[in-house]
Amino acid sequence: NYSPSKMSFNYGGGKTGRVPAAIGGRRLRIVVTGGAGFVGSHLVDKLIGRGDEVIVIDNFFTGRKENLVHLFSNPRFELIRHDVVEPILLEVDQIYHLACPASPVHYKFNPVKTIKTNVMGTLNMLGLAKRVGARFLLTSTSEVYGDPLEHPQKETYWGNVNPIGERSCYDEGKRTAETLAMDYHRGAGVEVRIARIFNTYGPRMCLDDGRVVSNFVAQTIRKNPMTVYGDGKQTRSFQYVSDLVDGLVALMEHDHVGPFNLGNPGEFTMLELAEVVKEVIDPSATIEFRPNTADDPHKRKPDISKAKELLNWEPKISLRDGLPRMVSDFRNRILNEDEGKGL
Ligand code: NAD
Ligand code: UDP
Ligand code: UDP
Repeated sequence: NYSPSKMSFNYGGGKTGRVPAAIGGRRLRIVVTGGAGFVGSHLVDKLIGRGDEVIVIDNFFTGRKENLVHLFSNPRFELIRHDVVEPILLEVDQIYHLACPASPVHYKFNPVKTIKTNVMGTLNMLGLAKRVGARFLLTSTSEVYGDPLEHPQKETYWGNVNPIGERSCYDEGKRTAETLAMDYHRGAGVEVRIARIFNTYGPRMCLDDGRVVSNFVAQTIRKNPMTVYGDGKQTRSFQYVSDLVDGLVALMEHDHVGPFNLGNPGEFTMLELAEVVKEVIDPSATIEFRPNTADDPHKRKPDISKAKELLNWEPKISLRDGLPRMVSDFRNRILNEDEGKGL
């Protein structure tokens, strides 16, 4: 007869009163903001799978009920349509704060809203964490390093970010979110965890969200050329989603605030990525060049020694192994779209 509100909350602060995850094997009550999105829905699957109670908060800007529909009949699962920019009262043990559009196309769509989500949304979730004594994990981003002058990027690097550019709503929004988390930690004793996530891919990514992996895979399945922006020599390091989810859970459960880079150090140019897609999905795939977007970082690769040492975490799935795992999900959704159009 576990009653989380009786056992684990400290309405006076945040320094005491939290019951650590392992105690008595009792169920944790966990909020995942942005849980209807790509990463969030995979995280929710893992938490439900290990027996926790999960409440998802999502405004469905980029998230979809389809990502969670298989959990609707589970009594340990709850879905709330809510915008994190507005306050909310809940009684929980842990908060995974993911709510924020992640693809450049989506976060540039309404940049002021992106800033509000990152700043007011994070403030509200930290206020909630403080009130109930919950542990709070922020999903920050490798974008806090901007167009990096240090390579690979370590957590100690402060970054090279344009404060007034088209990407700033996201980069600077996440930098402010990190600042808020640290100030709630230092000032109010909230237990915070900060993950800096590098480019992640897998099933359930939005088909047309403009990110390079989802674009290349969808374009190849639709027999369209892959669109390489600029000269295609810029690099990224791509992580499969299950590796990220394992890293987020490890970070939440360990005793280190971070920030921690969570990414796969395998670095690829966009041209190399196109080659791998061709190799593993369709040897007849072609490419075409398009102009690049403003302020595009030239290179990005995580140094993950800190996460390896302190969280005992490292990614297991290479790009060549991970890409095929998202193909059937993409194929099915593209097929459904075509059927919907009467094709
Ligand atoms: P996503 O767009 O699939 O998911 C974001 C979710 O947040 C969606 O379900 C969306 O509807 C929800 N959301 C957005 N604004 C909201 C608001 N104001 N209130 C409530 N819900 C809101 O993106 P994702 O790839 O799953 O990313 C999840 C998190 O991880 C984001 O915070 C993102 O910045 C971070 N991240 C992701 C990557 C990546 O490569 N996927 C890289 C770095 C950081
Ligand atoms: N907040 C929330 N849920 C809670 C507690 C707080 O949404 O359970 C919001 C609250 O409305 C405020 C923000 O979190 O906008 C910061 O709260 P805090 O108590 O830290 O600051 P204050 O309310 O004193 O400004
Ligand atoms: N990109 C590309 N073709 C596309 C989409 C993106 O070549 O169809 C490039 C983009 O210019 C950038 C890289 O791929 O250099 C990664 O872009 P994405 O939007 O996936 O993530 P982010 O820029 O946030 O790392």
